Amino acid sequence: MINNKQYNRLINIAKSLCPIYKCHRCFHVAFLLKHNKIYKIGWNQIKTHPLLKLYPYYSIGIHAELNVIMKANKDDLSDYTLIVIRLNRNNKILYSKPCSACQNVMKQFNLYNCYYSNYNGSLSKL
Ligand SMILES: [Zn+2]
Repeated sequence: MINNKQYNRLINIAKSLCPIYKCHRCFHVAFLLKHNKIYKIGWNQIKTHPLLKLYPYYSIGIHAELNVIMKANKDDLSDYTLIVIRLNRNNKILYSKPCSACQNVMKQFNLYNCYYSNYNGSLSKL
């Protein structure tokens, strides 16, 4: 589990990435950490991907969790921690529990250490 200082750092990185993607209603950022160091950063995207056909996604586009798992390009992510943060257009932190489709993908990559931003802006364990 990361400490508050590390969490604030991730929030600042998420905010700095956010303005590029104003087309999104909400901005989801997924950090893949190993030993509390950032390995890859993913975010939600509107474009589609062939992998999406394999999973029951109901919305269009790539979720941040799937995006960061694709960037990692590894079969086994059991040593990694996933942290998902969601921001709205005013940079407010919102609830970002991974959807069931993303949770299925995470299981297939042995990614069981996951935390997400909750309603009060702190992290909850999945
Ligand atoms: Zn999802």
